[in-house]
Amino acid sequence: MTAMHEMYYEKRAQVLIKNLKSRHFDAYYCPTKEQALEKALELIGKEATIGWGGAMSAQQIGLMQALNEGGYRTIDRDKCATPEEKLQAARDSMFADVFLTGANAISLDGQMVNIDGSGNRVAAIVYGPKEVLVIAGMNKVMDTLEDAVTRARTVAAPLNQQRFQLPNPCTTTGTCADCKSQTCICNQILITRNCRPEGRIKFILVGEDLGL
Ligand code: SF4
Repeated sequence: MTAMHEMYYEKRAQVLIKNLKSRHFDAYYCPTKEQALEKALELIGKEATIGWGGAMSAQQIGLMQALNEGGYRTIDRDKCATPEEKLQAARDSMFADVFLTGANAISLDGQMVNIDGSGNRVAAIVYGPKEVLVIAGMNKVMDTLEDAVTRARTVAAPLNQQRFQLPNPCTTTGTCADCKSQTCICNQILITRNCRPEGRIKFILVGEDLGL
């Protein structure tokens, strides 16, 4: 990251935070992964139950490791032995005190776009967990909502598909074909444009490139 990138991200973050707050989200800017981890741990109470979904950026700042090592009450689907246990953990996350997730894109005017296959992640963003903590790199911030939806659909989803390798067109071509496959990972497209109750959804914006 060059000094120019750092200044660019910091200035855009200032604009974005003002716009997120106008929509009743809480938002913080951390220039580095290390500062973001510190802020996340400050925001998550030691007594909280914590679930997550689509939270690669939280992984990348070391948050899951810190929670596990710190003895937090996590609902970790990766520790489940069977598909049934994983499904139950996803359901349990709907009642978590804190749900950790990422953003496929955020528009500079303060709206978040997320795409989901099974829907557990977007469901938890909409309703259920007491708080939602979004960790997102500034690479996810687009100038307009239209650009944010385009990023989510044509960059984040085909990239994510390279991880899952399901038999969808973008697995082969790297390009979204707006498919209706049985295995499509783009079944739900959520725009979160305002936050109620106030402050339920919190953003930690990181001045580094994170996630997909
Ligand atoms: S081709 Fe299908 S699975 Fe792939 S990004 Fe487009 S809608 Fe999603």
